[in-house]
Order: sequence, then structure tokens, then C-alpha cells
Amino acid sequence: MSSALETLRRDFGGNIIEPSGAEYESARRTVLALGRPACVLRPRSAGDVQAGVRFAASTGLLLSVRGGGHGFAGFGTNDGGIVIDLSELAHVKIIDKERHLVRIGGGATWGQVAAALAPHGLAISSGDTKSVGVGGLTLTGGIGWKVRKYGLALDNVAAAEVVTANGEVVRVSAEENPELFWAIRGGGGNFGIVTAFEFAAHPTTDVFFGKIAFPASQAATVLRGWADYLRTAPEALTSVLDFANPFAGGPGAPVEIRVAFDGDDPQLAARTIDPIRRLGTVTSDDIALTPYADTLVDGTAPSAGIQFVIRNAFAGKESVPEVLQILAEAGASQRPPFIAVRSVGGAVSRVPGDATAYAHRQAELMVVTTIAGPEPAVEAARPALDAIWTRLAPHVNGAYANFFASATEEDVAAIYPSQTYKRLAAVKRRYDPGNLFARNHNVRPL
Ligand SMILES: Cc1cc2nc3c(=O)[nH]c(=O)nc-3n(C[C@H](O)[C@H](O)[C@H](O)COP(=O)(O)OP(=O)(O)OC[C@H]3O[C@@H](n4cnc5c(N)ncnc54)[C@H](O)[C@@H]3O)c2cc1C
Repeated sequence: MSSALETLRRDFGGNIIEPSGAEYESARRTVLALGRPACVLRPRSAGDVQAGVRFAASTGLLLSVRGGGHGFAGFGTNDGGIVIDLSELAHVKIIDKERHLVRIGGGATWGQVAAALAPHGLAISSGDTKSVGVGGLTLTGGIGWKVRKYGLALDNVAAAEVVTANGEVVRVSAEENPELFWAIRGGGGNFGIVTAFEFAAHPTTDVFFGKIAFPASQAATVLRGWADYLRTAPEALTSVLDFANPFAGGPGAPVEIRVAFDGDDPQLAARTIDPIRRLGTVTSDDIALTPYADTLVDGTAPSAGIQFVIRNAFAGKESVPEVLQILAEAGASQRPPFIAVRSVGGAVSRVPGDATAYAHRQAELMVVTTIAGPEPAVEAARPALDAIWTRLAPHVNGAYANFFASATEEDVAAIYPSQTYKRLAAVKRRYDPGNLFARNHNVRPL
């Protein structure tokens, strides 16, 4: 590795952090994972990324690519390998005012994007947390507070600049390298390092945003009513329903419906949100007009030793009643997992199924369960969690890569149905035949 490192030092303008370096202690970890890589590279330009990729390929060591470092599976670090940490590629620049085109560095976070776009009255539907990376979230989906109106974050990508496994810079769009453009919109970090995205942003006003809570005892009715309403509600409304929160009483925790109404007209907002208020006995309601950028929360890093088991699946319209019934019963059981249900229809479902590598366009809901805690607590809760998923299995399908803490063959098969996987594998063969980019929900070259 030493001669490769010498070449890297010559070609690389960014920071090279080795175990003896002062920054190593913080550089070796992501928000959810601790690694011990041989070195962490912090490129400052696409040229640095090219040098980093060539270096990694020449060493044969495992390569992790880190955007915002929030991946649940901990792909953004490793033991003994190389990490390319994109955090210094964080520019946000409006490049076409009329078309609202914005160029964003592959290591920017959504908080940086929201803050930079707010003064221009623009936003991009992304996620709910400031410190989450544009890279990881966008490359496999991106379910944010305007998802029903503007689709997934990846649906708003117009072009990207990618450094592929041989160190070349490739521009992708509908016209340029369209198959690679298709693959990076859903296929994750499998095909190269995205050094910059070009997004079509959308004008935004302040939005009505907040939470309406109901007693746990009304969970079954509220869940059903919420899902029925969201099926036909105006697409300006995006909503997530959370319940059985272990930090708020587990089975006794309130059912909380988080709501974002994309608009600042109070009458229209009330007309759209009121049907949710009528679903049960409202115990709290803090919905207020909020700058879009303030709807994103600060992320917090869990304490050392806390493990996460996060699982998810989609439900189509026909299975929604059974799924919600099972979840309501699970939420009322002793020591339930934290359960979240996201409404993912609207604009997501209008994009043709083969337009991007995100395959779950027809789902109506996404179910996410989370257990978190020290290892013994997580292990104790696992059998009950498995039992819930065994009951759900006949009624759900597919999975969203961004809400997985694991990366088994089964997980990859759930994320990519076989037709999608085959097409991705063909793109992988062309752009990464040696599987350099393997620290992800991995697609193997055909
Ligand atoms: C607190 C929290 C809140 C969240 N909220 C939401 C939400 O509201 N909606 C939602 O859809 N998801 C959400 N997520 C999930 C989130 O989308 C994923 O965790 C995502 O992988 C994080 O991206 P990252 O860049 O921060 O992570 P990283 O760990 O840095 O990267 C994850 C993966 O993406 C690849 N990658 C990242 N950047 C690039 C790049 N520029 N080029 C090539 N590959 C790259 C990496 O190789 C890695 O495989 C949330 C996660 C957390 C922890």
C-alpha cells in the first residue's frame, strides 16, 4: 500500500487521515457505526475523488463511501479498509434560476440544502432530518415532507456527475449515459461516487406542519381512518403515523400523526387537515405555519453501545386493512417495537415503474418497525419482532433500502425485484465489473 499511498499524496488535494492523525478518532465513525479503517480520505474536488477511487482500487482493500454518515447499516465505515468521506463536497448552487436547477455536492446534508435554498423560496422534498446526507438518501429513494406532491428525492434529480470504478468522471442524465442515470436513481452507491447532483427544486412557501395526537386505545380506528383518508387526500398533504413509541409508554403511547401541508393558505390547510382531527379524541395538536427549512429536525447520535434493528416493507391498497389490524394488535402488546406508517402514494405512484431503479411505485403505505437499545435488550425484543413480521409477511412486499440496518441476500431481494436486479446487474457489469463499490445493498455484476 505504501507506493500507492505515495501516488495518492501526489494526486490528492484533500485530507488523508491515518490512524495516527488527530482527526482519526472522529473520522473513523459514522453516526451509527464505529470502524477502524486503514485511512479516511476527505476529497475537496471531483479530481480528488478520482484519485481516491484509483488508490482504493489499486490496494484491493474494502472501500466505504460516506455521504452524511447516517446509513443504518453502517456502510460508511469499515475495518481495515478505505473510507472516502465526501463531507467537504457540500456546495449548494443555483445554476438555472428559471428552471430552479440546483447543483449539490455529493457530501452535502439536507440541512445545508434547506438553509441554502430558503432565501430563494425554493426547497427539495428530501427527508426529515438536517444531518442526513443528500447522497445516501437520494441514491435509493428519499421520502420527505413533500413526497406525495413532488415524489421521491430521486424523482427530482435531473443529472449527476459520477466517478466510476475506473476513476473516470461521467455525466448522467436522460440524454447522457441514460442507463447509468436510471441505475443511480434507486440502485444506491453500487455504480460509483456521485460528486454532484443536479436537482430540480420547487418553489415553497411556509408550510403547515406539526403533530396531532390520539389516545393509544383508539389506535385501530385512527390507523384505519388515516389510511382511508390519505388515499384520496390532496397531494399537498404528506403524513406519517407513529405509535407504540417505547420512550413514551410503549403500548400506552399516544398515536401521533405528523402532518405537512405544502401551502400557507390557512383555510385550505384546515380543510385538508381537519378530517385527520376528526379521526378520534385529539389529545394534542401543535400544527402551525412553519418555514419549510424548520420542518427538518437536528439528528442526534445514539450513545455508544446502542444497537438498532430497523425493518420495513410496503403494503398495497388491497392488504392495507389486514396490515393495519396486525400493527394495531402489535402496538398494544407488551414491549412492542416503535411502529411508523408512512403514506407513500401520490406523485410517487405516477412515475412509470421502469423510469428509475426504485421499484415500489404502487405501494400505498410503508411500515417501519424499530427496536433500539443495548444488545441484551435488543436480543430480548427480537422474538416478538420476528413474530410481528411473520404475521405481516403474507400481506406486505418489497422493502426500502434506506430503512434497513441489515444487508442480507433476503434484504437485497426485497429491495430489488428480480427484473430490477437483473437490469442493475447489467449496469454494474459495465461500470463496476470488479465490485469495488460493495459496501452497500450490493448488486453483483452480471
Ligand atoms: C435520523 C435519521 C432520519 C432519517 N430520515 C429519513 C427520511 O425522512 N426519509 C428517508 O427517505 N430516509 C431517512 N433516513 C434514512 C436515510 O435516507 C439513510 O440512512 C441514508 O442512507 C443516509 O444517507 P447518508 O449519506 O447520510 O449515509 P451514509 O452512511 O454516508 O451513506 C449510505 C450509503 O449511501 C452511499 N453514498 C452516500 N453518498 C454517496 C455518494 N455521494 N455517492 C455514492 N454513494 C454514496 C454510501 O456508500 C452508503 O452505501 C433517515 C436516517 C436517519 C439516521
